Amino acid sequence: MVLHDEHRFLIDCGEGTQRQIMLSGLGFKRLNRILITHGHLDHILGLAGLLSTFTRWEAIEGLEIYGGRWALERIHDLLYGVVLRGAQSPVDIQLRPIQEGVLLEADDFRVSAFPVQHRGPDCLGFLFEEKPRRPFLPERAEALQIPPGPWRRDLVNGQAITLPDGRRIQPDEVLGAQRSGTRLVHVGDVGQTEPLLPVCRDADALVIEATYLEEEAEMAHDFAHLTARQAAELARQAGVKHLILTHISRRYRERDVLAEARLVFPNTIVARDFDDFQIKRGELTRVNPDE
Ligand SMILES: [Zn+2]
Ligand SMILES: [Zn+2]
Repeated sequence: MVLHDEHRFLIDCGEGTQRQIMLSGLGFKRLNRILITHGHLDHILGLAGLLSTFTRWEAIEGLEIYGGRWALERIHDLLYGVVLRGAQSPVDIQLRPIQEGVLLEADDFRVSAFPVQHRGPDCLGFLFEEKPRRPFLPERAEALQIPPGPWRRDLVNGQAITLPDGRRIQPDEVLGAQRSGTRLVHVGDVGQTEPLLPVCRDADALVIEATYLEEEAEMAHDFAHLTARQAAELARQAGVKHLILTHISRRYRERDVLAEARLVFPNTIVARDFDDFQIKRGELTRVNPDE
């Protein structure tokens, strides 16, 4: 789940997701947007359980599910053909087909989708990015003797102000150079990394699958998945700051996956259930410190 201000985005919904959400303490409140990378069952089956949970709890009013056309067709069959079977849905479900491009834009950030090569059509990855902004420089404001309060807020919002003493202050006088915002790239299952280079360029964090190790590179290729090494190569080439690997096969040990990836890209983490990271520009902090 990606959280930003009051926004929450669940990315994919594998089997058992609703139980994990309960155990995580995140709860279902405001869980009204689900982004689906593709329609394979290990990424959508949990929607059935989630909807059943909503039937009992009615914790939310509406649910928007974003995905490619093929994924949404399968989700439609799962929810309306299997779970509801003609019954009224407890929540208003909106299946929103998306393609490459911006899917949500708020004041200070946007979410966009980009195409991903995997088995089947319409596979997507997601980019979460804060918009670039100019930082407020309090020392300049002090030097200009601008009192705290609405004057400073207006300057931050790019508006010139007139102080009680009649002085006119322009935003340029108290704002620093423009800085790019935090960027988080999430890629689900994927077989080719070259097309992802531009979107991953300089990202603060990249979450991506690593289903295989190099010793099974051929199988990874056949099933359009990545090895840990391939994921790490992408992170290195794109100059991302932190790499978080997911979708690890149960046949491997975490430390072998880590070792393979870190040979190429040292800033690698293998995600575990309930891991919680805060991502800021160039910085990744583990919020659950018991690891
Ligand atoms: Zn898949
Ligand atoms: Zn998968």
